[in-house]
Amino acid sequence: MNSIHLHAGQRRKMVEEQLGDRGIKDLRVLEVMSRIPRHLFTLDSLQHRAYGDTPLPIGENQTISQPYIVAAMTEALKLKGHERVLEIGTGSGYQTAVVAELVAQVFTIERINALSRKAQQILEGLGYSNIVFKMFDGTYGWPDQAPFDAIMVTAAAKEIPEALIKQLGDGGTLVAPAGDADKQKLMVLTKKGDRVSKREIGDCKFVPLVGKYGWPEK
Ligand code: SAM
Repeated sequence: MNSIHLHAGQRRKMVEEQLGDRGIKDLRVLEVMSRIPRHLFTLDSLQHRAYGDTPLPIGENQTISQPYIVAAMTEALKLKGHERVLEIGTGSGYQTAVVAELVAQVFTIERINALSRKAQQILEGLGYSNIVFKMFDGTYGWPDQAPFDAIMVTAAAKEIPEALIKQLGDGGTLVAPAGDADKQKLMVLTKKGDRVSKREIGDCKFVPLVGKYGWPEK
């Protein structure tokens, strides 16, 4: 059997127990996560843990986020299908795939070239043609392509970079972790005209957002 079709039972269980039972309601998010072969985005040696309830290492000291966090962040964006979305932190490309299934186009930035290249290879291999990749410091955003209908940041800074909030279009939603290096709040920002409203949707622990408007490189 082609490896894309493996683990369907584990995926179904992941969606039911880790997502549905914990309050994820967006049926489109649940449907795409029951289909996307998450095991292809993990290290070969960790494929057997791909559908577990945890983040996993992906090399370069980075992680693929826990399935629940991927679902909660995606649901928070209330995606309908027409959107152009900016993602900061391509990582393994798994979250990129989830969003790409739900919108018109995804612009994704990763600062570690090896991760960006690997994610690109996997996503193109799976047939995604609505993702544009960039290797750069994502704390600057992608000004040439702004405004975006939605922005997702998958690494944590003390404060959400102003440059990203500026690049959010009117009526747009941004989801990002913000807080200390070892613990953050998952924040949802909504822009209406000049007003930006903020709410917290839970605790989280992300790897650092490293760059000009994030944490300094060690
Ligand atoms: N969403 C990813 C997935 O599904 O695999 C997980 C992303 S991982 C938690 C965070 C990623 O953000 C890492 O790959 C890290 O290198 C990247 N990152 C950190 N700072 C960045 C920056 N300034 N610009 C772009 N990417 C950054």
